[in-house]
Amino acid sequence: MRVAVIGGGINGVMSAWALARRGHDVHLFERGEQLMGATSSASTKLIHGGLRYLEHGEFRLVREALRERLFWISSAPHLVHKLQLVLPVYKSSRRPGWVMRCGLMLYDWLAGKSNLGKYEWLDRGIALTRFPELNCTELLGAFTFFDAQMDDRALGLWAGSEAVKAGVRIRTASEVTSISETGELRSNGVDQKYDLLVNIAGPWAESLLSRNGISSEHQLDLVRGSHLVLSRQPQHAFLVEVPDEERFCFILPYHGQTLLGTTEVRQSLSEPIACSKQEEGYLLRVYNHYIRPAATDDDIVGRFSGLRPLIRSRSNPSAATREYAIERQGQVLTVFGGKWTTSHALGERIAVLAQDVLSQSGNS
Ligand SMILES: Cc1cc2nc3c(=O)[nH]c(=O)nc-3n(C[C@H](O)[C@H](O)[C@H](O)COP(=O)(O)OP(=O)(O)OC[C@H]3O[C@@H](n4cnc5c(N)ncnc54)[C@H](O)[C@@H]3O)c2cc1C
Repeated sequence: MRVAVIGGGINGVMSAWALARRGHDVHLFERGEQLMGATSSASTKLIHGGLRYLEHGEFRLVREALRERLFWISSAPHLVHKLQLVLPVYKSSRRPGWVMRCGLMLYDWLAGKSNLGKYEWLDRGIALTRFPELNCTELLGAFTFFDAQMDDRALGLWAGSEAVKAGVRIRTASEVTSISETGELRSNGVDQKYDLLVNIAGPWAESLLSRNGISSEHQLDLVRGSHLVLSRQPQHAFLVEVPDEERFCFILPYHGQTLLGTTEVRQSLSEPIACSKQEEGYLLRVYNHYIRPAATDDDIVGRFSGLRPLIRSRSNPSAATREYAIERQGQVLTVFGGKWTTSHALGERIAVLAQDVLSQSGNS
C-alpha cells in the first residue's frame, strides 16, 4: 500500500523503514535539504534508559528504552558504544545516596538481560582517585552505571540509508503543506493520494494538523534544550544534579571535546531554536560547580539547541512525560513525542497500527 511519512528525523526514518520491511510502498517527505536536520541531531547523543524518568514513574518507557539500547549497539556498533556514567553524591545533594541507589537497582533490574553492566558504589577516596577532576568539597562518593553513546546525525543517516535499501523513497526539500484525513497530501505544489499518512514531524506535528483543520486529543509542549561544546578532552562522563534544582545535567566526552547539557526553556515554534546567553551561563555554572579546573567563555567552541516535543501536561518540563502517543484521525496517524532511543520500537508500533488502519479500509 502507498504510505507517506512526513518528517525525516529519527522517528520518521525508523517508521518508514519498519513500514517498508512489511512490504509497503513508502515515501518519506522531509522539508530540509537532508535527513536529521532538526531535533534528531541536537540531542545529548545518549542511547539510554533515562534514569531520571524513574522518579516520575515512567517505568514502561524506561524499560523499553533500556532494552532498545541493545538494538542500536548490535545494529550499528561502529556508531554506538557503551558508556560508563558517574553520578557523584555530595552532602548537599538533593537526593540522598540511598534514593540514588534504589533508582540504580531498579534501572539494572528493568534492563533485565539487556543490562550493559551493574551499577557500583565508590566511596569518597576511591571516587577521587578515579575521577580526580571532581570537586572534592563535601563529596561522599559516586555511583557508576552504564548507558550508551552515539553520533546522532551519523546514526540517523545510517538508519536512513538502511531504509532506502528496504525500499523507502526519500524526498528531501519537500515540505508537506497540506494534508487531509482522507489521505491527500500536498508537497511542492503537487497533490498526491496515499492509503495512509504518518505525521511524525516532531515539534511540528501538532501544527501540521491544526493548520489543516484536524483537531487532536494531544497537544505538544515545546521545550528547548541547549548544549555547549567545550574544547576540553574529558576522561569521564558525569550525570550531575543542577545545584539547588531537581534537574540533572550531563557532562560528557564527545569527539575529543566536552558536551555539556542540557537546559529546559519553554518556547513557541515562531521563536529561534538557539542557545541564549542565560543558558550558556547556566550550563557553565553547573560545570564549574563539579569540575576542576573551571571553564570560562573562552572554552566554548560550539553550541546547539533542539526542541523537545513533549506531550502537554501541567508539570514543569523536567517532570513532563517523555512518553509518546499515537493518534489516528481517518487515514492519518500522528505521533506526539518520542525519544531517540525508542525510535525503533516506535517504528514497529507504527507498522502494526498501519496494518490495522489499512485492513479496516480494505487495503491490506
Ligand atoms: C536537547 C535535547 C536532548 C535530547 N537528548 C536525547 C538523548 O540523549 N537521547 C534520546 O533518546 N533522546 C533525546 N532527545 C529526544 C530526541 O532527540 C527527540 O525526541 C527526537 O530526536 C525527535 O525526533 P523526531 O523525528 O520526532 O523529530 P525531528 O528530529 O525534529 O524530526 C522532524 C522532522 O520533520 C521535518 N518537518 C517538519 N514539518 C514538516 C513538513 N510540514 N513537511 C516535511 N517535513 C517536515 C523537520 O524538518 C524535521 O526534520 C533529546 C531532545 C532534545 C531536544
